[in-house]
Amino acid sequence: MNVNQQPHMASPYGQPQPGYQGYPQPGYGGGHVPSGYPAQYAPYNGPGSAYQQGPPQGMRGPPTSGAPPVSGAQSYSQFGQGETQNGPPPMGAPPQRPPVSQTYTPGAVNLSGPQPPFSQQFGAPPVSMQQMTNQMASMQVGSTAPSPAGPGYAPPSVSQAAMSAPYTPAAPPSFPPTSAAPSQPPPTEAVARPPPQSYYGAPPPAQQPFPNAVPPFSSTGPTQPQAPPPVSPQSFPQAPPVSQPPFSTAQVPPGPTQSYGGPPLASQGPPMVQANHVPPTQPGMPPGPISASMSGPPPQPGMQGYPPQQNGAFGQVRGPQPGYTGPYPGQPNYGAPPAAPAPAPPATKRLDPDSVPSPIQVIEDDKANKGSEPFTTGVRGQAPPLVTTKFQVKDQGNASPRYIRCTAYNMPCNSDMAKQSQVPLAAVIKPLAPLPPDETPPYLVDHGESGPIRCNRCKAYMCPYMQFIEGGRRFQCGFCSCVTEVPPHYFQHLDHTGKRVDCYDRPELSMGSYEFMATVDYCKNNKIPQPPAFIFLIDVSYNAVKNGMVGIVCQELKTLLDYLPRENPDVESNIRVGFVTYNKVLHFYNVKASLAQPQMMVVSDVADMFVPLLDGFLVNVSESRVVIESLLDQIPEMFADTRETETVFGPVIQAGLEALKAADCAGKLFVFHSSLPIAEAPGKLKNREDKKLVGTDKEKSLFQPQVSFYNTLAKECVVQGCCVDLFLFPNQYVDVATLGVVPTSTGGSIYKYTYFQASSDQERFLNDLRRDVQKPMGFDAVMRVRTSTGIRATDFFGSFYMSNTTDVELAGLDCDKTVTVEFRHDDKLSEETGALMQCAVLYTSCSGQRRLRIHNMAVNCCSQLADLYRNCETDTVINFFAKYAYRSVLSSPIKNVRDSLVNQCAQILACYRKNCASPSSAGQVTKCMKLLPVYLNCVLKSDVLQPGADISLDDRAYLRQLVSTMDVSESHVFFYPRLLPLQKLDVESISVPVAVRDSEERLSRGGVYLLENGLNIFLWVGVNAQQELLQNIFGTPAFGQIDPNMTSLPALDNPFSKRLREIIESVRAQRSRYMKLMVVKQEDKLELIFKHFLVEDKSNNGGASYVDFLCHMHKEIRQLLS
Ligand SMILES: [Zn+2]
Repeated sequence: MNVNQQPHMASPYGQPQPGYQGYPQPGYGGGHVPSGYPAQYAPYNGPGSAYQQGPPQGMRGPPTSGAPPVSGAQSYSQFGQGETQNGPPPMGAPPQRPPVSQTYTPGAVNLSGPQPPFSQQFGAPPVSMQQMTNQMASMQVGSTAPSPAGPGYAPPSVSQAAMSAPYTPAAPPSFPPTSAAPSQPPPTEAVARPPPQSYYGAPPPAQQPFPNAVPPFSSTGPTQPQAPPPVSPQSFPQAPPVSQPPFSTAQVPPGPTQSYGGPPLASQGPPMVQANHVPPTQPGMPPGPISASMSGPPPQPGMQGYPPQQNGAFGQVRGPQPGYTGPYPGQPNYGAPPAAPAPAPPATKRLDPDSVPSPIQVIEDDKANKGSEPFTTGVRGQAPPLVTTKFQVKDQGNASPRYIRCTAYNMPCNSDMAKQSQVPLAAVIKPLAPLPPDETPPYLVDHGESGPIRCNRCKAYMCPYMQFIEGGRRFQCGFCSCVTEVPPHYFQHLDHTGKRVDCYDRPELSMGSYEFMATVDYCKNNKIPQPPAFIFLIDVSYNAVKNGMVGIVCQELKTLLDYLPRENPDVESNIRVGFVTYNKVLHFYNVKASLAQPQMMVVSDVADMFVPLLDGFLVNVSESRVVIESLLDQIPEMFADTRETETVFGPVIQAGLEALKAADCAGKLFVFHSSLPIAEAPGKLKNREDKKLVGTDKEKSLFQPQVSFYNTLAKECVVQGCCVDLFLFPNQYVDVATLGVVPTSTGGSIYKYTYFQASSDQERFLNDLRRDVQKPMGFDAVMRVRTSTGIRATDFFGSFYMSNTTDVELAGLDCDKTVTVEFRHDDKLSEETGALMQCAVLYTSCSGQRRLRIHNMAVNCCSQLADLYRNCETDTVINFFAKYAYRSVLSSPIKNVRDSLVNQCAQILACYRKNCASPSSAGQVTKCMKLLPVYLNCVLKSDVLQPGADISLDDRAYLRQLVSTMDVSESHVFFYPRLLPLQKLDVESISVPVAVRDSEERLSRGGVYLLENGLNIFLWVGVNAQQELLQNIFGTPAFGQIDPNMTSLPALDNPFSKRLREIIESVRAQRSRYMKLMVVKQEDKLELIFKHFLVEDKSNNGGASYVDFLCHMHKEIRQLLS
């Protein structure tokens, strides 16, 4: 497993900053930086309003004296000395256009060297689905020809001529072979650890996540059938004589259906609801008139336009798709009105699961339709392929969907339309997203000392949306229409179409994404930044030592420190490192190169944290290697016999922060922590875990921090550019909601290894740690999203801090983090010009360069609702809704949050039905929105919004924070896991089997399935799995001999075993966190955990099945329409 990652951001240009020596700055220990940015970021700090009047701070006159020759100092050769590029004009030679293809080769972008090419999973179009593809051909999105871009912006005719000399990529350092990993399991095992059992880390057996005994069904329903459902196989599709079908629409026939079932598994029994969980009266759905009236027979018959076999709420008018005939296995009526009555016995009056819109089919259709050709971004308003489709992107003027995905690529022209449709207008932005090896990372543009060219008024950066006029002497801003003089050094003639003749030689005139070198004006306090630092702070209290964490971390760091981020792989990283250990007190280490042995300095007064040593704390790894290694060898020994169980936490972060302040640099803290910080110190916490609050109006308090200390601390961290990553190793409640405040406010990450055991969790932890340390990131970042007149960014979601309404401040921003931005109208938009957005992220690179990364995106605007619906992306809408809901739980009762989600979606669909269901528009729209109900239901029944008895408060807080930074691909698989039937694996092919829907009835007893959701991988083994299959995978033909505790598959010498392990590795490589493998045998008790992820089924915490939820949505919609 290789976790290498090279800073993909322009690797080659990294030029070490000159003049870094120790701690030059005088201000050590100086006064605290006042909160907020005292005009440090000139360009960003304008008045809160979008438009800065007056002399632009960013537009300095000619390079005057003062400014150090920032950019000049480092010849950024990526554009080949003066070869053409954007430097100040040494434009002697005619712009040469280097070979277009200049491959940005090496793993620079590739997060892991050997990892198989970017998601081959989603590779080749499903062979077996050929038929389907044709049939669905008429259902593409965006079939209306997108209008050409506005003035000044047109798809470059020449395909993105690569401008510039080749990116000289260099081979990424490869991470040491895993063998280098600490093999010696640290002295653990002292405590008999409970076997991890749960998906997020494992509750102790004591808390039995899924008790076998069926607990009394909560208050919700009429008395529950304790008895297992009609035994036998039947019953699955929808369960047992259920009590209360969530929406009662479907009177479920307990009767036999055809699925498999087996002995009464607990899941088939009544849903288990924890005793103290007070569920809403109608689990899953708000009670109310609607539901009340629903208890009758299902609505379908009467609903015109909603025949039961239809695609959910939409498309009722849709004519039969030409040539579409029962394409998808098992989905006879997909996409068309039922040609014939469904097989389901009329008596049941429930939707046939095969007749409702299938995520799998939509995913496969998209692969077939859009996976073969590169997606070019030159056409405004074109929805990209789905995140599940593998495709190549060519930047022709708009940001790649890997950087920005929108909920709608055709925005309503005015707010009335927006309000009517209720479709959220948002963009999910991943500014430093890694790219696959065959795509070119953003070029770095250096305008020299004068810095980037910007609009005088709104400060938007030069981009393809600026229109040059008056022979090229001025340009008109596409965002605010203001006209700005072109500086003499940037002047260029226009061609007969009004385009600058150097258009395709300049990334900022022809591409959607690029970077600018920032000048000193863009630096905090107008000072070139120091290279950042990494500080490792290791809990050495009893639990942390006993579970092996301390030993593992120290051992790993010895090698990992050689792989710190760097821009030029041939040069050592500029990042300095420092080490602290702590329990109730803190130990700082002097690891200065000149020392023979490291020196420890203890700070026991944690009330007023300070750093006891200046010189020798932050060091260069190669210079101090011997001392550092000695320290890392000694730490586990020093604390091996500790009896100290108490820890502090606030002072730990303060210590790191103070050290960064002392060094006058930004940086990242890696905190390895094990317990609730109850020792007397600032930020001390108490155990407030109280599950009784779940389901009450006070539930929201569980997600809020218990003290305000950390909010204040987070603010200070942001000011300093101190990003905090937190690795938790808890054995009990640690209050993630509170401990997570600083990480989630500073762009950091939280990792959680509950009941950590070296033997089974080390691999996951080490892979996460390696990736986390090496991943490309920017420091001390601030992001601003500008928009064209008519809309503006009004709300932001993610891990960051905001001290005003426009600037998103990120102490750190790594390649995995997204920021979601919601837009609202403040005026009318025009169909002609569309709507523009520009995301600018100012950050310090790992070598200490100050840069601006720019992403531009133009979308269409429409006056017809049908156009809006046709160009929506459901996966992004769901990402937005999830983040919105997960944030809302901080302030509103969860029931209200759920209700409003359902409401808004019902309105979206009702509006579609009412306004767009005309024969002319039918057919296409459905593709975009028909999956809204199934995905929405997954969000509603997720652990944050509808917790089961097994889920801890910490896990909920953890997931809540995790989702807030997910990109669309991650949120998609998180809410709708991928389930692969391995018995269909073709070892000869590089493709993976077509996934099946997340429902138990799709599982065959004779099969073996792989399920992944970005956090976990399960291998489910059917009781009747073929012996050959088992032999190939496990090396035994006997089901009974499979060890359910294995966390990795045996490396057997047969093609199936090899291919399967490859698939698992490549699935892992696609995700930002390492997924531990769990083997689940059918009918084993662990199966209950697995079933939690079969999200189309009714869940045992009361979550509705997809079919039931769809019925409920129909009612809601009908209600709205009547
Ligand atoms: Zn402007």
